[in-house]
Amino acid sequence: MATLLIVDDEPQVRKLLETLLQYEGYHTLSVGSGEEALALVAEQPPDLILLDIMMPGMDGYAVANQLKDNPATANIPIIMLSALSEPSARLSGLQTGAEEFISKPVERVELWLRVRNLLRLKSYGDQLKSHSLMLEQQLRERGSETAKMNVHDLALLDLENALRQAVTAREFTLHYQPKLELANGRISGVEALLRWERPGYGAVSPGIFVPILERLGLIVTVGRWVIEQACLQIARWQRSGIGAMEVSVNVSGHQLIEGDLITDIGQLLADAGVEPHWLEVELTESSLMENTPHTISSLQRLRAMGVKIAIDDFGTGYSSLAYLRRFPLDTLKIDIAFIREVTSNPQDAAIARTIIELAHSLGLRAVAEGVETPAQLAFLKEAGCDQLQGYLFSQPLPVAALERWFWRRRGV
Ligand code: C2E
Ligand code: MG
Ligand code: MG
Repeated sequence: MATLLIVDDEPQVRKLLETLLQYEGYHTLSVGSGEEALALVAEQPPDLILLDIMMPGMDGYAVANQLKDNPATANIPIIMLSALSEPSARLSGLQTGAEEFISKPVERVELWLRVRNLLRLKSYGDQLKSHSLMLEQQLRERGSETAKMNVHDLALLDLENALRQAVTAREFTLHYQPKLELANGRISGVEALLRWERPGYGAVSPGIFVPILERLGLIVTVGRWVIEQACLQIARWQRSGIGAMEVSVNVSGHQLIEGDLITDIGQLLADAGVEPHWLEVELTESSLMENTPHTISSLQRLRAMGVKIAIDDFGTGYSSLAYLRRFPLDTLKIDIAFIREVTSNPQDAAIARTIIELAHSLGLRAVAEGVETPAQLAFLKEAGCDQLQGYLFSQPLPVAALERWFWRRRGV
């Protein structure tokens, strides 16, 4: 669990931030002055700092300056809180090395998103750092021309090159994770999840490499391959004793905007000889919110073909009820963040119930992912959730292992 340090001289602001962040599952520490903040960070470095600019004594700029000057604390991301909206305040903050700004009064969703994004970036940075020793060694060996780049740039460059290579060398595979229909205990389908074994390193999380593929403009190619593989797999299952099965694929917003996703899907289904209703595409709430008019018309074409549409990670993004009604949808997948503590945190429980009811009132099915315990299962069953996915039943598995899992369940 990530630990966030809140630094603000106003007790009400500290209390508000603590409540909002604890609600999202973060562990918080809080202090009322810059001096206390520096002392605490030296002892117990947090994963992220929310730092007020205007404080008596040492102000936020001075605190950020000291932290960013010290190599031991320079990597801790800082979000500055300012009541000042002038660009000059932001500029001074950026010069001291703060990564982000939030204006007071703090807007809940903005706070969550900025915190979440920065923590993701940090963990990405940490992973990169773990490669840096090796790279420093390489640098020393190569000596000259690349020596001016810093190690972080090099590690990123290395990762990008490795990914480009992965696309040409077809190093990706798909794992499949089963989904269980609560009403009858049957397997209702599987989600296809992309896997990459980086040569010489081991598995890299899609949470890390998918955003890079997006940035490099490679996600359209890889995403097309994912859909192709999923269609071929449906056809294979259909012909085998296992029988046809619904397969969900994750689709990046870039695929909707940059590629001709809809035509591709129609072609790939036809080539594999698979009926469209076996395929479901999962789009995140945030990707739906980009370029909505285009997205809505694309999704309408997809839906008209018979392909199913799910919103993934639902509940943390921006979607308004008005939008939800305009998207042609089949499924809401509750964000894993609400499932994690659904049996211990009454607010998460209330949100999960609300999402399930919302789904049903819109005629959609509700799917919970990240279900790990029998207690979560019992809660979701009682709350009327339609389908469950999670380690409790199975991890995402390679095809052969998944097929063995199916046969065991059927008692064959
Ligand atoms: P997602 O679509 O929300 O996928 C669910 C994630 O939760 C998967 O992580 C899955 O392995 C993990 N998970 C499943 N059951 C449990 C559980 O019981 N507990 C916990 N803690 N986690 C569980 P994974 O495979 O690392 O994928 C991460 C994300 O990467 C996915 O989130 C999706 O957004 C993205 N992704 C994966 N494959 C693709 C793809 O083919 N295309 C695109 N565009 N994105 C992909
Ligand atoms: Mg998904
Ligand atoms: Mg999800």
